Amino acid sequence: MFSLQGKGIGNDIIIGKARVQSNYSNFDVQLKVISEKYIPSEEIRLEEAIADLDNDLKEIIANYNLNQKEDFRNLIESHRLILNDSLLVKGALHQITKNKCNAEWALVQQLEMLSEQFDKIKNNYFRERKHDLEQLVLQLLNKLTSIGNNDTQNSNVSKQSANKLDPKYILIAKDILVTDLPKLEQQGILGFAIENGSPTSHIAILARSLEIPSIVGIQSTKQLILQGEEIILDAECGVLITGADKEVLSNYEARQKNKYIRKEKLQSLKHIECETTDKVKIKLMANIEQPEEAKKAIDNGAVGIGLLRSEFLFLNKNAMPTEEEHYNAYLNVLKTMNGKPVTIRTLDYGADKLMPSDTSKSINIEFNPALGQRAIRFCLANIQLFLTQLRAILRASFHGQTSILLPLITHHDEIIKCREIIQSAMVELSSRGQKFDKDIKIGAMIEVPSAAISISELIPYLDFASLGTNDLIQYTLAIDRTNNKVSNLYNPNHPAIMKLIEHVVSSCKSKSCPVSICGELAGDTNQTDYLLKIGLRNFSMNYTEILKVKEKILKSKVNSSFNQ
Ligand code: PEP
Ligand code: MG
Repeated sequence: MFSLQGKGIGNDIIIGKARVQSNYSNFDVQLKVISEKYIPSEEIRLEEAIADLDNDLKEIIANYNLNQKEDFRNLIESHRLILNDSLLVKGALHQITKNKCNAEWALVQQLEMLSEQFDKIKNNYFRERKHDLEQLVLQLLNKLTSIGNNDTQNSNVSKQSANKLDPKYILIAKDILVTDLPKLEQQGILGFAIENGSPTSHIAILARSLEIPSIVGIQSTKQLILQGEEIILDAECGVLITGADKEVLSNYEARQKNKYIRKEKLQSLKHIECETTDKVKIKLMANIEQPEEAKKAIDNGAVGIGLLRSEFLFLNKNAMPTEEEHYNAYLNVLKTMNGKPVTIRTLDYGADKLMPSDTSKSINIEFNPALGQRAIRFCLANIQLFLTQLRAILRASFHGQTSILLPLITHHDEIIKCREIIQSAMVELSSRGQKFDKDIKIGAMIEVPSAAISISELIPYLDFASLGTNDLIQYTLAIDRTNNKVSNLYNPNHPAIMKLIEHVVSSCKSKSCPVSICGELAGDTNQTDYLLKIGLRNFSMNYTEILKVKEKILKSKVNSSFNQ
């Protein structure tokens, strides 16, 4: 038995089978688990494919006019060397025995291992050899399709295509796309562990909101975890365990049960008013990414939506949303919230938030996207797109308490420009005869150091401010929130962060500007007492955290030392 440590997302524990995903998933190779007796014939298939391809290459050389194109001959010779290299051949044969799998899967596993080694070599020549290797493996896969396989002979073959999985799988991969997350459940995948990412990366935020227990920033899983073996994913502790004995397994089963009981207990707090022991009322709102989550926000006692991340609504689309699509999504949320306030953040595209493919190109090629044309910068550079969303928000505002939240504001000029654009959206709606809230509140995310430091210059243009600590920490401490190599430096208690947060809260309070917090920090019960002590009274967080934070607040005293 051994365990691997990463950063856990969510609180649940899953016991399931490992579904190790290849980096070469575009090769479209399926794993077929074979029984022991078919291992030799699978090895023969692979050897035949190699011999066949080698013959093809020899033939090319034999028919080749040596006086011309010497480089080409050298290339084919080098392909023959790679093809017959024991690293590829013996390695793939070993994979067949180790994983009890088909030759195709074994080849791709071996390719993956070798290509990772090539990537480590800082020499262009060797890097190029990786492409040769990929070419050869593709050709071998072609050969294997015509050699036949053990499917027909072996009734015990279990096929595991990406779309056809038995329930209770845990995905093990280097990375996963945000757009793939909602599809996991239908594939029988209940959780995942990936090498990339950090707890405040958007993949983690989305996993939390979809309640998919997961671990990010976990290393070497693909080398150490066998396809199909039973593993335990403990999202609470960020631990992945393999080879667990009966005692450990039953321990985890007991913990699973306890977690269920605790969830039930927390539910009993849902209708209790959220106030500290010294009767200070605290508002707990929800961050949501999809309209359907509004219902879950209500189920967890949220008194409103403090942050609707509108960009996630459109991740699986190939084009930017129309005004009607925006409008219907917001209307849906407002209806579910039934009179409770909803704060809609304008598009925060860019950086690690994916773009619809047809509009993404200009952003994706940026060398340093977190410092590039992200969020409000993107909207101000694409006014028509911005106006489309603003008109939809304004129209929705007629049906319920709505506010507009502007992301990545760095200077008051940006707020002035946004206000002008909002004004022109209002003019257009009036000319169409459409109704909206003329006094809609306009606020800004305070999530870059320049905004936090100069908050007093922003306040005159704002109806409210919302502290986005995920980005504030990223930009202040100069650590990429998606990069697991620096996630250990992601420190919300760094003195610079505390000074910035405290400065924003006290400046807003002194000028009577409502201030709230919507970064992941808001849902961290270890920070609750501190946040209360510095004067925060409005929190917005993933709905899964609301009742835990409420439980903490119900036992806290605002005017006490935060160590109490
Ligand atoms: C933040 O930066 O804290 C925030 C809430 O915004 P997001 O995580 O969507 O960037
Ligand atoms: Mg942010």
